[in-house]
Amino acid sequence: TYVICEPCIDLKDSSCVDVCPVDCIHPLPDADEFEGVNQLYIDPEECIDCGVCEPECPVEAIFMEEDVPEEWEDFIEINAVYFE
Ligand code: SF4
Repeated sequence: TYVICEPCIDLKDSSCVDVCPVDCIHPLPDADEFEGVNQLYIDPEECIDCGVCEPECPVEAIFMEEDVPEEWEDFIEINAVYFE
C-alpha cells in the first residue's frame, strides 16, 4: 500500500485524490469528530499500489509502504487506523 506522510498535514492539496483510480484517498471529514491528524489518508485495504498518486503530490508526502522514511514510519499506522 501507499502511505501519506507528514508533508500533507494541514495542506491537503488533494491532487492525488483526483487521479486515484479506485478512489481510496480520503480527507478528514470532520476534524472535530475524528481526533486524528489533519491530512489525507490512503485506505490500505483498497489501494492497488498503482503508484499514480505519488508523482502528483506537490510536497512529496506519498511513499510506498516499504519506502516510507524512518522519521515518518508512524504514518503507516496513522493511515491504517483512520479506516478501522
Ligand atoms: Fe490510489 Fe494508486 Fe495511490 Fe493506491 S497507489 S492510493 S490506488 S493512486
